Amino acid sequence: MSARVLDGKAIAAAIENEVAEGVAALKRDAGVTPRLSVLLVGSFAPSKIYVRNKARSAERAGIRSEVLEMPESSRTAEVLARVEALNADADVDGILVQLPLPGGVEEMRVIERLSPEKDVDCLTPYNMGRLLLGTQPWSPCTPAGIMEILRRSGIPVEGRRAVIVGRSNIVGKPLAVLMLRANATVVMCHTRTADLEGECRRADILVAAAGRAALIGARHIAPGATVIDVGINRVESRAEAERLFGGDPERLREVERKGSTLVGDVHPTEARERAGALTPVPGGVGPLTVAMLLRNTLEAARRRRPG
Ligand code: NAD
Repeated sequence: MSARVLDGKAIAAAIENEVAEGVAALKRDAGVTPRLSVLLVGSFAPSKIYVRNKARSAERAGIRSEVLEMPESSRTAEVLARVEALNADADVDGILVQLPLPGGVEEMRVIERLSPEKDVDCLTPYNMGRLLLGTQPWSPCTPAGIMEILRRSGIPVEGRRAVIVGRSNIVGKPLAVLMLRANATVVMCHTRTADLEGECRRADILVAAAGRAALIGARHIAPGATVIDVGINRVESRAEAERLFGGDPERLREVERKGSTLVGDVHPTEARERAGALTPVPGGVGPLTVAMLLRNTLEAARRRRPG
């Protein structure tokens, strides 16, 4: 069997088009162009790339965006002051604080200071609480994107067993809430789970969000299961790339040319043979995270500035 590949890029492009239409309508009806402010603290290289992609996609959808950079040496009080200024700026609809923050900045204090109505990543305790209660109008970007992939690919969730590997605040936990709301039977796995293989093998929908390269192999996957791979890990050795990608010449060339290639938390060749459907890395969940950020920003703008 060769798994159906769920094309995250195409799904994200469709959502971005819908957002662009919504942005145009808001402009026409209320004279408002949504604005997204992205706060990038420090010099973590992957964050710079993510932030650039987010800003570019926002502009494509007609959302005004800006990236506000602060140095690695920033102190918590300075970041809090920046957040306060964005909270107070009536022209800002969405604030995204790119995580992780540098070690010297207290992440939770920064998140807690965000105005919930501008918290387009849905990380504040208030928005998380409302998510749990089912009253929050938008959801954290990556989990929301995963639900869109399933919905738009016609993969049923209701009554199915969804097994989520990873319990972070940005992926695993909120995804469990969304799955529950979609009437799945939800199992959460983590580093202390006694029988990870056994739990995973019982999944109709298996979501891997552990941040461990190729943690999930053939023995974790029931034949025909849907596998959603959230992980983004870098493989730098040619031997490892050969093991994971079965000698795929493109991947090997990438390692030689760029010094690395990306792999998810799922072993790509093993999963392709066993799963019924699978998200690729790259080009699976990643593009949806960006698309949902745009959709959340539009929603925040609509609610803050009704026509
Ligand atoms: P995290 O490190 O905050 O959490 C990882 C979770 O996985 C923890 O709850 C831990 O208990 C669990 N875990 C780790 N190793 C495990 C193991 N061996 N067995 C079982 N559970 C294990 O990570 P995160 O922020 O949730 O991100 C997870 C991965 O998803 C990372 O690779 C990250 O880069 C990626 N990510 C991708 C996107 C995207 O848009 N594609 C968005 C967010 C995160």
